[in-house]
Amino acid sequence: MPDRENIKVCEIFYSVQGEGINAGVPSVFVRLFGCNLTCDWCDTRYSWHRDFARFEKMSARKVADRICAFGGLPGKNIVFTGGEPALQQEAIRRIRKELMARRDHFSLSPEDQFTFELETNGTRRIEDDFWNVINISPKLQNAGQQPYPVLAHCFPREHHQKTWWKFVVEDEKDMDDILALLKEHHISPHKVLLMPQAQTRDELIAASPAIIELCKQYGFRFSPRLHVFIYSDKAGV
Ligand code: SF4
Repeated sequence: MPDRENIKVCEIFYSVQGEGINAGVPSVFVRLFGCNLTCDWCDTRYSWHRDFARFEKMSARKVADRICAFGGLPGKNIVFTGGEPALQQEAIRRIRKELMARRDHFSLSPEDQFTFELETNGTRRIEDDFWNVINISPKLQNAGQQPYPVLAHCFPREHHQKTWWKFVVEDEKDMDDILALLKEHHISPHKVLLMPQAQTRDELIAASPAIIELCKQYGFRFSPRLHVFIYSDKAGV
């Protein structure tokens, strides 16, 4: 198959994972352009809104080149995010193939290999089994999303161990949505993370204590938003 320059890439950058179970892990972020939702509080509108159209069409080889340029060798956590990266799963497959070919070239030990992490809103079925971590972040009514858009089986059941459910929470009123979703999808509380809805560092600090209380009450994990805490509303970090 030719390596077409048809992957809509919004940005590629090296940072630490800011949210979820891998928070703090050095990671290369591949932010793909395009989303099927329009959340009111979306902090990455530039990754899908037509007013921005901020993307470059790239080949899989070029994306892999850019990933490997951050330190040269594999051995990194690669986070596919968006927008909604599950809209471009064929493209992700091609990028991964390019990366795995480089891994084989360097004959790396297992601990030096790439790991792959996905951030998705849960509205598209995840077709591949290579993901090491799948973060599903369903959008609640606080995002202006009605009706509830999460797919009943957005990931294969065998991926259960790798899958974490991450919710952006404004206040206690969101718990009805969350508890209904957990019941519908048979999700155990230990797979759930809550994080505050906040666009800036000040908003994040102000909102966090109430979310921690909800985590204590329901037995969920609290997820930091390190990028907001450290860089506030700056993009690409
Ligand atoms: S699903 Fe994510 S990227 Fe898409 S509009 Fe909502 S918050 Fe933004």
